[in-house]
Amino acid sequence: MASYDLTVIGTGPGGYVCAIRAAQLGMKVAVVEKWPTYGGTCLNIGCIPSKALLYASELFEEAGHKFAKMGIKVSAPELDLPTLLKFKDQAVDGNVKGVAFLFKKNKIEAFAGTGRILSTGKVEVKAADGKTQTVESKNIVIATGSDVAKLKGIEIDEKRIISSEGALKLDHVPQKLLVIGAGVIGLELGSVWRRLGADVTVVEFLDRILPGMDGEVCRQFQRILEKQGIKFMLGSKVTAVDASAKLLKAQIEPAAGGAAQTLEADVVLVAIGRVPVTEGLGLKQAGVATDNRGRIVTDAHFATNVGGIYAIGDVIAGPMLAHKAEDEGVAIAEILAGQAGHVNYGVIPAVVYTSPEVASVGKTEEELKQAGIAYNVGKFPFTANGRAKSNQATDGFVKFLADAKTDRVLGVHMVGVEVGEMIHECAVLMEFGGSAEDLARTCHAHPTRSEAVKEAALAVARRSIHI
Ligand SMILES: Cc1cc2nc3c(=O)[nH]c(=O)nc-3n(C[C@H](O)[C@H](O)[C@H](O)COP(=O)(O)OP(=O)(O)OC[C@H]3O[C@@H](n4cnc5c(N)ncnc54)[C@H](O)[C@@H]3O)c2cc1C
Repeated sequence: MASYDLTVIGTGPGGYVCAIRAAQLGMKVAVVEKWPTYGGTCLNIGCIPSKALLYASELFEEAGHKFAKMGIKVSAPELDLPTLLKFKDQAVDGNVKGVAFLFKKNKIEAFAGTGRILSTGKVEVKAADGKTQTVESKNIVIATGSDVAKLKGIEIDEKRIISSEGALKLDHVPQKLLVIGAGVIGLELGSVWRRLGADVTVVEFLDRILPGMDGEVCRQFQRILEKQGIKFMLGSKVTAVDASAKLLKAQIEPAAGGAAQTLEADVVLVAIGRVPVTEGLGLKQAGVATDNRGRIVTDAHFATNVGGIYAIGDVIAGPMLAHKAEDEGVAIAEILAGQAGHVNYGVIPAVVYTSPEVASVGKTEEELKQAGIAYNVGKFPFTANGRAKSNQATDGFVKFLADAKTDRVLGVHMVGVEVGEMIHECAVLMEFGGSAEDLARTCHAHPTRSEAVKEAALAVARRSIHI
């Protein structure tokens, strides 16, 4: 029987990063993966393919609508959807092959099949042909990730009623796309298909988009998306989808109750969230506890209630984000090696990769109010930023929230072009417990959009220069 220091079940960003870090620290490491390629949801059917589609569809829209005003004359762009989907598949292929290379480089043994915990220190791997083998391991890390959350009574067929997986490979542009859920995935994939020509309506149960993100940022972001042509039905719920005719008929009711209305669509995208994957893992037999949402319960060091069994990533509590899973993978590997692995959950950036983008780190204004923390706000709009003006891309703003007494930065929220790249200086600032003044006194290159970050930091003390 093969024997290892660490066996990781699942090779998403949590699992593969954990395996690599553990190997770097001298452990003999095995991974178990049931899919034909490594990289999990993120590389295969999540972050990477969605960003490839967002990138290509954004350029398609720019070529059609923005080139002319800059004096670049091109004929109306024509969509070649099979090639666009191939471009996305190539992005996935390059990334998953990269993980396979890293496993080899770090001498990580990969077992193909579904992993099931038999007991502490023993994982059974069942291959696609039904053959099983057992791997012995001092420690086991569960990194089995998450799957699409289903809506009761609405059957996903991945053709007309689709999840995010189907939305990454539609073979035609729907005339009418109905998106259920105004979270990150619904807005990103809704934007892709709108840019390619679909008429998109987003139905959201809550009375706002992007629950959990800063309210003021989301209100402006919604207005921008509406200007782009996306329609929103907030405070509404889809209760049924009739698929018996050529056009789907979605029944929509006010969330608070009331008369229903019917909306027709060619395609309905169910994007109401994700649920942890634990089925078939043998958790019950092994005695591993889960919470009321099916997530594996861990302590602050990723340990489950059973000795030698740990869990990270989407399968435990916390934001379902690839970089959160990665950081947890590094932390548990370091803890198992006797080091002080740690994740700072207060400083995990979140980005919506639409155009413009939304980016945030730390507390929202709503959270600070609820916690009764006194804070100062500093805001700066891109309409007053030289680079944004020169590119004529002035939608959005940057907002700093700093402690009223100490000036320590508690949260930063942005909406605007490329803010997903700009949020990280704020994350570093917060990791070091920095103040708004620290950032405001840091020289920023001109002309950059990042100068708006400096100006927002200056605005905390009411001393912005350019407004
Ligand atoms: C459309 C979409 C877009 C997204 N975009 C972003 C983004 O831009 N940025 C971001 O941060 N996050 C994004 N996410 C979320 C991100 O993909 C997840 O947070 C991340 O993949 C979680 O990593 P993980 O390692 O916990 O699990 P996963 O990536 O889900 O990987 C789990 C792996 O475990 C394997 N597995 C499960 N059970 C077993 C078993 N019993 N035996 C063997 N193998 C098993 C699975 O096959 C899979 O490979 C997106 C998600 C989706 C769906």
